[in-house]
Amino acid sequence: MEEYDLLVKLLVIGDSGVGKSSLLLRYAEGTFSEHHLATIGVDFKLRTDTVLNKRVKIQVWDTAGQERFKSIAIGYYRGAHGIAIVYDVTNEQSFNNVKNWLEQITDHASEHAQLILVGNKCDLDRERCVDRARGEELANSLKIPFVETSAKNSVNVEAAFSKVVTKVVEDNIEHHG
Ligand code: GDP
Ligand code: MG
Repeated sequence: MEEYDLLVKLLVIGDSGVGKSSLLLRYAEGTFSEHHLATIGVDFKLRTDTVLNKRVKIQVWDTAGQERFKSIAIGYYRGAHGIAIVYDVTNEQSFNNVKNWLEQITDHASEHAQLILVGNKCDLDRERCVDRARGEELANSLKIPFVETSAKNSVNVEAAFSKVVTKVVEDNIEHHG
């Protein structure tokens, strides 16, 4: 049987089409598909890592196409240790909607959940309409980390998730030794 010290539940949320499933696939399996991943077939993907000397089992949950606000079951947020809020740097609306996702987090997630703001598709520079500075500014105002990623080119995907996982593990060590 596989052994681990800590199980970390991460959520990836954000508008439809921003690349949530792609980020998850890149992070958990190191692959990418040009197609819209309507559903990944399961609710989550697993990955194991050693973080701060702890063996960590990381469970990353996908919304599997239920991205309309309020339609995601409240239970989805329950027990989440970390949440990546994703927008698409080529989609203004997805950036504007970040505030709606934050509202859901406030309503349903633990106040201890570690958040990160993720601007995905940074490889599409010619189509970009959300400047890096705007993402940074928003994240600063929320006092959460920010990173621009490309699931396609594997830019910062590892960094984005590991930032969150490390913070979760740090919190756990503080509280439980
Ligand atoms: P979801 O609805 O948020 O899960 O989005 P998907 O992961 O299904 O991605 C939607 C579309 O965007 C697909 O066609 C992906 O191939 C594409 N996509 C996702 N991430 C990236 C990226 O980093 N760069 C580019 N160029 N396309 C991406
Ligand atoms: Mg998806």
